[in-house]
Amino acid sequence: MKRDIQKILIDEDVIHKRVAHLARQFQRDCIDNGIETVTVVILLKGALLFAADFVRHLDMKIQVELVNASSYNGGTKSSGVVALDRTPDVLNKDVLLIDDILDTGLTMTTVRKQLLEAGAASVTTCVLLDKRVSDYSCDFTGFDIPNEFVVGYGLDYQGHYRNLPYVGVLNPSCISI
Ligand code: 5GP
Ligand code: MG
Repeated sequence: MKRDIQKILIDEDVIHKRVAHLARQFQRDCIDNGIETVTVVILLKGALLFAADFVRHLDMKIQVELVNASSYNGGTKSSGVVALDRTPDVLNKDVLLIDDILDTGLTMTTVRKQLLEAGAASVTTCVLLDKRVSDYSCDFTGFDIPNEFVVGYGLDYQGHYRNLPYVGVLNPSCISI
């Protein structure tokens, strides 16, 4: 699997330090805003590893909701349509919406809107990676990265590579067009 990776963009240690820092920052914001309990909405499957590490740094009450959102259908280009499997119960709740990566921003903006329509008291957005493609940016961002297709630390190509502990760029020879 390692030889399928052209280069490592962000290594394991750097990710872990940044995730801990982001979570502490988020918690401080909650305290400042009088928020004691948060409903963490995790977008599957890509945000699973990031969110699992992030919540372990929170010293506060949380609830977890998992939502399946897909716009890539396993390939390397966004289909332009975001499909959600369910709307979690977020009525009057302060929500932290976590995704793996911001590309066009369609996923985040669509899901955020749905959660507000479902009655969330507030929705704070958080992504590990931002390709800086759209004008939209999240409230909390781990890393800005170049506009390349990346895998690892939860992110996949055709369902594979999610278990790599780092974020890397896939060898072009591994991408089928
Ligand atoms: P957006 O809706 O912002 O265009 O795309 C966000 C979604 O597309 C992410 O949740 C992720 O599933 C997928 N995505 C965007 N860029 C990449 C990438 O470089 N690698 C992988 N594996 N998925 C990506
Ligand atoms: Mg996704």
